[in-house]
Amino acid sequence: MTPEQMIAVRVLEKHRLAVPVDVEGLVAQFADMEEDFLPPGVDAVLVNNPVVRARPLIVVEKNQLPARKRFTLAHELGHLLIPWHLGVVGCHPTAFEDWGGQIYQEGESEANRFASELLMPSSWLKLVVENASGLREVYDWLATADASDAAASLALARCMPPGRIIAQVDASGIVLVAAVSPGTAVSAPRRGSKVRESQYDGLSAVHESLARPRSVIHRWILPEEDSLSGSDGEGSAEILARIMRRGLPDEQMVKASQVLAGVVGYANSKFKFSGQTEGQFISVLRQRLLGREDFKWLTGDAEFSKFLAVKARELVGRGR
Ligand SMILES: [Zn+2]
Repeated sequence: MTPEQMIAVRVLEKHRLAVPVDVEGLVAQFADMEEDFLPPGVDAVLVNNPVVRARPLIVVEKNQLPARKRFTLAHELGHLLIPWHLGVVGCHPTAFEDWGGQIYQEGESEANRFASELLMPSSWLKLVVENASGLREVYDWLATADASDAAASLALARCMPPGRIIAQVDASGIVLVAAVSPGTAVSAPRRGSKVRESQYDGLSAVHESLARPRSVIHRWILPEEDSLSGSDGEGSAEILARIMRRGLPDEQMVKASQVLAGVVGYANSKFKFSGQTEGQFISVLRQRLLGREDFKWLTGDAEFSKFLAVKARELVGRGR
C-alpha cells in the first residue's frame, strides 16, 4: 500500500467511516466548498494558502455527474491531507488512465490513489472480490460505494488476484479505462483502442462481459500458469534458457534458438505495422509454434505461455 493510501485508511478509521463514504461531510470538516463553472478540462480548483484565506476552499465544476463529483472531492481532500501537497492546484482527477503518473504530475496520481482508497478501501474491495460471484455481482456490490464504473473498475483491478484484465469500453468497443491486477505480465488494452472478446485468446483467457448503462465491462482471467506472478523482471531469454535445459540436449540449443528467432522475427515483422495487440501477437505466435513438430520441446513445456507473454511484452515495449 502506498503512503497516500495509508493516509486514506487512517482518515477512514479516525472518522469511523464506512462505504458509502460521506465524502461531502468529511470534506466540510477541512475546507469550504463551492460549485462553479470552471474552464474545460478542470474538474476542481483548490485554494490552500493561509495568506489568501484562513480556511482552504475547494471549487468544484458544476457540470459533473454525482459519482464523479464525489471522486473529485475525495481527490481534493487528498491534496489537503497528503502532507507534501501544497498550494493552489487546478485538477482533472478523472484522467484515471494516468494513475501511473507518467503523463500527469505524480501529485495528481497520489491524490487519485488517495481518493480511490477513501471511496473504495482495499479491505472492502477484497471482501467484494472474495465473495461476489461473477461480474454482475461484483459491480452491483461496487455500486454501493457510489463511485463511477470507471473508478470502480480501476479500484477493482488493484485488489484482484494476478492474471486479471479489466476494460471498460463504450458502445463501439473503444477502451475508456483498462487495467490489470498486480502481478499480471500482459498489458491492459490501450485507452482509445478497440477491444475484442478474443483479445487474449492466445493466452487461453476466460472472458466475461457485463453491459452497463453507458458502457460494457470486459474481464479476462488468465489461467494460473499464465498469470506470471513470479516472473517479475525476468526476461524471455532467461525463461527460454530454462525451458531449453529441460527439453533439449546441449548440442541442439544453438540451432533451436536460431530457428525460434526466425519464427518470432517473421511474426513480428508481419504484424509490425498492423497495430496488433499483445494478445493477438501472442495468439499468432502460439499458433505458428504449436503446428511444428520441431518445437514440441517448447510448446509442451509448462512455461510456454509465460515465455510467449514475456516475449510479446518485450517486443511491444520496444515498439516492435
Ligand atoms: Zn489534483
